[in-house]
Amino acid sequence: MRIDLHTHSRASDGTLSPAEVVALAAEAGLDVVGLTDHDSAAGWQQARSAAEQVGIVVVPGIEISTKHKGAGVHLLAYLPDPTYPGLVAELDLILAGRSGRLAAMLGQLRDAGVDIDEPEVMRQVGEAKAIGRPHIADVLVAKGYADDRGDAFSTWLNWGRPGYVTRYASDTRAMVRLVTEAGGAAVIAHPWGRGSRRVLDLPTLSSLQGDGLVGIEVDHQDHNGADREALRTIARELDLVATGASDFHGAGKVDHELGCNLTEPAQYERLLEAAAYNAEAAGVAVPAVGRP
Ligand code: AMP
Ligand code: FE
Ligand code: FE
Ligand code: ZN
Repeated sequence: MRIDLHTHSRASDGTLSPAEVVALAAEAGLDVVGLTDHDSAAGWQQARSAAEQVGIVVVPGIEISTKHKGAGVHLLAYLPDPTYPGLVAELDLILAGRSGRLAAMLGQLRDAGVDIDEPEVMRQVGEAKAIGRPHIADVLVAKGYADDRGDAFSTWLNWGRPGYVTRYASDTRAMVRLVTEAGGAAVIAHPWGRGSRRVLDLPTLSSLQGDGLVGIEVDHQDHNGADREALRTIARELDLVATGASDFHGAGKVDHELGCNLTEPAQYERLLEAAAYNAEAAGVAVPAVGRP
């Protein structure tokens, strides 16, 4: 069974629609695909309908922007109740922060001699609820200010570059609790990825486990072989679920093809069990989704 639990669509900063991601996942021979757009569940419904048509399983998730000790931490929430009021309120704050920083970013870019405006960016954003730097990157590429998204980030958008503006992110620990209360399973995405500053060591992960953390993403393109082995050992010692995934963004991220990293079926089963347990405890409907 081929399981890839972390992908993005045009509901955030991927370049394909949710239905296209699911169709491509089926073509790539996946049996299970997690759709985990940034800070939004807007793509779930379309992904589910597409999954029924092509006969694979979609695990609905959200990659939530959080912060621990000042470092950005992406938290994957699998199968939470997307209507849980506390979760909706926090996601609204994050989305407002994403929208609110756009004018400031464009102002700073203009000061640096880059001529792009808000309507141009909003055309790239399309129907996405989560406006991200990749949308600005795509305009920078289209107008010749950068060669591709990666170049746009390193020249203009990363921390320390002219277009960088910080934005609101939830507290990691509070969000782990909130996802758990919403009947979901919380998994830390690329814990030692770019910009993580490795604040998530074994004692910290153990402590977050006390708040409901279910797993960590071990096999991710941001982790080299040594990181993967060290994270796998931590997962084993703490009895956390170890996942693997592509973090596919369509054409937006090179070397992140669907299925380039996979989650073992036994780990996937444990993830579903944790979500079912949390859903039952939260009194929300236990999701029927998940078993092909
Ligand atoms: P934001 O959500 O606005 O903070 O932007 C972060 C997003 O940009 C993440 O989803 C990353 O996938 C993407 N990203 C960050 N660095 C790069 C890069 N070098 N190339 C392509 N995408 C990137
Ligand atoms: Fe992204
Ligand atoms: Fe991420
Ligand atoms: Zn991601």
